[in-house]
Amino acid sequence: MTTTADYKTLAERASAELANATAEEALRWTAETFGDDFIVASNMQDAVLVDLVTKVKSDVDVLFLETGYHFAETIGTRDAVATVYPDIRIVNAQADQSVAEQDAEYGPKLHERDPGLCCNLRKVVPLRKTLANYSAWVTGVRRVDAPTRANTPIVTWDDRNGLVKINPIAPWTDDEFNDYIAEHGILQNPLVSIGYLSIGCAPCTAKVEPGQDPRSGRWAGQSKTECGLHG
Ligand code: SF4
Repeated sequence: MTTTADYKTLAERASAELANATAEEALRWTAETFGDDFIVASNMQDAVLVDLVTKVKSDVDVLFLETGYHFAETIGTRDAVATVYPDIRIVNAQADQSVAEQDAEYGPKLHERDPGLCCNLRKVVPLRKTLANYSAWVTGVRRVDAPTRANTPIVTWDDRNGLVKINPIAPWTDDEFNDYIAEHGILQNPLVSIGYLSIGCAPCTAKVEPGQDPRSGRWAGQSKTECGLHG
């Protein structure tokens, strides 16, 4: 039986061996190493990562954090992705409480008063519970996303959640990313075309003016910049 310590050692070795791997090489290694025992995270801003993964394994689990606060367009994109990639299995990770139950316990609009707690209840905890069922997860984090992500490795050990984390497009520039979407006709959330460049929950996502940092539209006006998912 493979233990946590074994996976940690595996991640450390792969981190060095795959430091300069292409996205396809990293994903091929993931599929060969973990089989069905990994999940691919998607915020349904686009289907780039799902498209890349399904080229090496069509029947993967795709994790969507169903916070109860998403734009209708994001839910529509999730459903469209499930149609375009029919072999994938969408795993909707939900909080223990519905939004209404959370409002009853903490008061309405917790996201305005304590977004850290709201994200913890609706994203961090459901993510951790879902990831406990797998030995590895794949994310679409890129180094250009934010200064906090500048050193993101392609393979690493995720100490917080206790599993291997693969970031196959970590080195991609915005041009490489947008070229992939254009060349392969990849599904995108329709909100992107009207100025939402980093899409999260509706109450915490704003449009971004041309030339501004894409993530400036997340928790605009607050000091918070990350959900706490990729720390
Ligand atoms: S992004 Fe906003 S609404 Fe969504 S979980 Fe975090 S604080 Fe709550």
